[in-house]
Amino acid sequence: MTAFALKESTLDPARAVFDQVVPSGRGFTGDLRRGQIFRVVDLEGNQAVDTLFFNSRDLDERYSATETIRAQGNIYLTTGTELMSSEGRPLLTIVADTCGRHDTIGGACSAESNQVRYALDKKHMHNCRDSFLLAMARYGRGMTKRDLPSNINFFMNVPVTPDGGLSFADGVSAPGRYVEMRAETDVLVLISNCPQLNNPCNAYNPTPVRLLVWDPPA
Ligand SMILES: [Zn+2]
Repeated sequence: MTAFALKESTLDPARAVFDQVVPSGRGFTGDLRRGQIFRVVDLEGNQAVDTLFFNSRDLDERYSATETIRAQGNIYLTTGTELMSSEGRPLLTIVADTCGRHDTIGGACSAESNQVRYALDKKHMHNCRDSFLLAMARYGRGMTKRDLPSNINFFMNVPVTPDGGLSFADGVSAPGRYVEMRAETDVLVLISNCPQLNNPCNAYNPTPVRLLVWDPPA
């Protein structure tokens, strides 16, 4: 396995201005102000945290996997990655990462993908697409399924094989590992803490994550 360049944060959770645990299978929305630092902690290890970001002043500008991959010339996300918008501007920058690699090409699980990948009777199982839609509806700014572009899967290991395939592999994360990013503009965070029970990316055992926010240094 590749040796990842890991970077730890110096921020103290006791000084966070926001600190919340999101159980597996739940959606989440929250607003970040420019300059705030946002951390996602994989509390029990190998959880997949499906995540989208939007410019909260103009929701039509949203995270773009394509722009992000093109800007850095690499398909994996880690420290130094600028999470780019559909307008080619950085929404956030990853500033610390103790996992080392995050996916942005595997997509979010859905009722449809559950049937195609696993079995017809998996259709009604909980899935990220439904969690995203429910969280967006509760957020209440008129967002619908057309506002769901390709997402980030924090802590998820989706290696691209030498012959160009994708594999949903065992996670590379572990309990307590985290990824931390700085908001480069005012950002809406949309998360589905993946409930998937049919593939090994979360060890068939979805677990909670912890979200923290710090204000910009004075
Ligand atoms: Zn999922």
